[in-house]
Amino acid sequence: MPSFVITEKCDGCKGQDKTACMYICPNDLMVLDKEKMKAYNRAPEMCWECLCCVKICPQQAMDLRGYADFIPLGASCVPLRGSQDIMWTVKFRNGTIKRFKFPTRTTEEGKAQPDGGWSTGSDDLKSPVLFTEPDSLGLSAVPTIKR
Ligand code: SF4
Ligand code: SF4
Repeated sequence: MPSFVITEKCDGCKGQDKTACMYICPNDLMVLDKEKMKAYNRAPEMCWECLCCVKICPQQAMDLRGYADFIPLGASCVPLRGSQDIMWTVKFRNGTIKRFKFPTRTTEEGKAQPDGGWSTGSDDLKSPVLFTEPDSLGLSAVPTIKR
């Protein structure tokens, strides 16, 4: 089932040019109704249920009907993002609540290196080897077949 907006909770990301859900959706499905200041999914049938919008929404205003393989029928599953982790709160039909917390980063916020610390060369795009090779293989050069 596609994600959907809980309109009572949505504040339209306070009228920014691009709301968080618009920014994150890889399918460009989220739209802001600027009169009502509420977001909506303009093509639910195109939603691939990646949950990016659900996780990024600062108001926890996006929800989804989860499949039974990760939550039982009728349960709700609400994420809360922190700077280091994400907490999923699952509420079952009988009222039972369970929380699951997962780390979301391995480096401190703002400290990630775009190149991962691997050296880059100016001829990388012309090279047949992968970005971190041969260093990441522990080799001085990638083996090649001599013809
Ligand atoms: Fe509304 Fe959340 Fe989308 Fe912001 S990210 S517009 S609060 S649904
Ligand atoms: Fe877009 Fe993914 Fe949200 Fe669907 S679940 S609307 S594809 S961000």
